Amino acid sequence: MTEKAAGADATGMQTTAVLDGDNWVLNGEKWFSSSASVADIAVVMAKTDPDAPRHEQYSTFIVELPNPGYEIVRNIETMQPHTDLGLKLGGSHSEIKIENLVVPRDNLLGGRGQGFNMGQHRLAYGRLRHGMHNVAIAQRALDLAAGHVVERSTFGKRLADRQGVRWMLADCAAEIYKARLMLLHIAYKAERGEDLRQENGIAKVFLAHMVHQVVDTALQLHGALGYSQDTPLARWYTGIRSQRLVDGPDEVHRWRTGANVIKAYEKYGTTASACGGELL
Ligand SMILES: Cc1cc2nc3c(=O)[nH]c(=O)nc-3n(C[C@H](O)[C@H](O)[C@H](O)COP(=O)(O)OP(=O)(O)OC[C@H]3O[C@@H](n4cnc5c(N)ncnc54)[C@H](O)[C@@H]3O)c2cc1C
Repeated sequence: MTEKAAGADATGMQTTAVLDGDNWVLNGEKWFSSSASVADIAVVMAKTDPDAPRHEQYSTFIVELPNPGYEIVRNIETMQPHTDLGLKLGGSHSEIKIENLVVPRDNLLGGRGQGFNMGQHRLAYGRLRHGMHNVAIAQRALDLAAGHVVERSTFGKRLADRQGVRWMLADCAAEIYKARLMLLHIAYKAERGEDLRQENGIAKVFLAHMVHQVVDTALQLHGALGYSQDTPLARWYTGIRSQRLVDGPDEVHRWRTGANVIKAYEKYGTTASACGGELL
């Protein structure tokens, strides 16, 4: 989806697709296409219906690679250092030039004008997956922190025996626990086919901050060792910064979440349905 021209507001995408006989011809650019450098298939969104309502102008295409109209201009260097394994698994994000890219008519996915809706649907489950990943990283970071503080002594005492250190660990434990409950609730709703947009938006932002706080605490407790590359903490610290941007930046989610709070109040006279009120 994302282009230099448009990210948070995906309806600003400029890439076009024009029907030419039995093929679509695409022109434009994309960037931050994750895993493009190792992909055999790209899923590309382009404007097929510029005169349709804003959310029905885009369609999604399956593009089989390599293809002469689809060129990886570069793999973008980010604040997360690449590892060899990460690169093999597709850890980079590419800038793509799309020039007279010919796509068979049948490769249009999910119906003409449905690109935006499909993207939103996919992103909802993507957020759940990101959330689980964030819990896993946070859990591992807290394990590393606990492992370190039971071993390391300063001023004649184990770090683990300091009240201040225990409070730091307790705060992390609380954050991870809240994160797990949020994810379970969203997964429960997903399984039942219920509308999970509000909870997902709240959790997406919460989980991105939660993992940052826990990794940051673990790094702090490791001292200079945490800042080094001798533990995975420094790499996680830079990698997870992306969580506040990908699949919609914090501000856009909070904007929508706040709007839903107001909507719930106006409809029901209480905001409960906008903050998990069905639970308790
Ligand atoms: C590591 C990584 C991997 C990614 N992988 C992919 C991928 O595979 N495919 C893909 O399509 N995209 C991908 N993206 C792109 C990502 O989805 C976009 O970066 C994101 O949607 C934000 O768009 P943008 O970067 O253009 O920021 P912009 O849209 O320019 O927004 C910039 C900032 O403005 C603020 N802002 C924007 N709108 C509002 C608003 N309404 N109210 C208040 N503040 C606002 C926010 O702070 C936002 O961060 C990836 C990004 C990263 C960092």
